[in-house]
Amino acid sequence: MMIKKFFTFSLALSLSACGSDSAKQSQLPSDVAPGTTQNIILMVGDGMGLTQISAAIEEHSRKLEMERFQVVGLSKTRSAKEQITDSAAGATAFSTGVKTYNGAIGVDQHGRARETILELLGNKGYATGLIATSVITHATPASFYAHEDSRQNYYQIAADMKKAPLDLFIGGGRKHFENRTDPNNGKTDDRNLIEEMQTSGFSFVNSLAELRKAKGKVGYFLADGHPDPILKGRGDILPRSIPTAISHLRSRTERGFFLMVEGSQIDWGGHENKIDYVISELIDFDEAVGKALDYAEANGNTLVIVTADHETGGLTLAGEPGEDGKTSYTKAGRQFASHGHTSAMVPVFAYGPGSELFAGVYDNNEIHAKMMQALALDK
Ligand SMILES: [Zn+2]
Repeated sequence: MMIKKFFTFSLALSLSACGSDSAKQSQLPSDVAPGTTQNIILMVGDGMGLTQISAAIEEHSRKLEMERFQVVGLSKTRSAKEQITDSAAGATAFSTGVKTYNGAIGVDQHGRARETILELLGNKGYATGLIATSVITHATPASFYAHEDSRQNYYQIAADMKKAPLDLFIGGGRKHFENRTDPNNGKTDDRNLIEEMQTSGFSFVNSLAELRKAKGKVGYFLADGHPDPILKGRGDILPRSIPTAISHLRSRTERGFFLMVEGSQIDWGGHENKIDYVISELIDFDEAVGKALDYAEANGNTLVIVTADHETGGLTLAGEPGEDGKTSYTKAGRQFASHGHTSAMVPVFAYGPGSELFAGVYDNNEIHAKMMQALALDK
């Protein structure tokens, strides 16, 4: 009953969005019916649990973009071998549909490479993209294009990108592609992956303005290593990159696109137990969510999913009784119980055709199955 209600609601939204934007709708290939899932934008707030979102709601001057969602589910995050997952196993569950061991990048618990949704869709002719506010070789984005038994294999992960059907990336990590020094052993090599990728059709840009003019496959390094945190001046590149990335993916093909976006540093604020770091990164990620929702509302055939790989820090939002006898939320009550990840379930928000599949309580790897089902590729 509940599911039917969600379905009716999301379908109604999709149809009304179609009606209000006939120009964009007319760009759809003629064989794509309105209200079917053609594009997926999967957005991962690393370390973003319900208390992180609640803290941002309390702090932010207006409603969070995430409050626009009508369909909400809960994801059980444990990995195949551990009760508390890391980002590699978490992202591999989303990308391949299998739970694996912590540290695994695109491989199952026996170390076997598993095709990722990005590879599957890319090989079927969809345009594919990745955006992250960490190095693009970090666990979450890497798990969509690389197959390595350890997330620490940055050298090999970068080389794996060359083999993937990837049309666009935006993130840090130029140092893993040229002037390379292997972080595992300090050895340098002569391999220049940027030149190698240029030979195989990639171009590299240094701004969104350049990206708007670029044709073909394109990479945009935001930094040599990790991009700065918001509090140290990164600016709003993450939300601003969303519309540009979407238009680029759409210019590649009419077939459809898959875009994964990670707000990478919410997790790092949690590890450092710095609430301002968490909230500033979460609000930046939320702005990006708003851009994706704006597009999906206008387009009508785009499924947007926002979730997390795990909660980080065991954040609590405790209150204290005030003089009026009412218990209030206090900034001093924002305490972390841990410097690591926790096993708390994390929310899943969904909008667009297929969003009704994401209501309920389920394991993180089922998000992969639900995306495949939404695209009618589960048979
Ligand atoms: Zn973490």
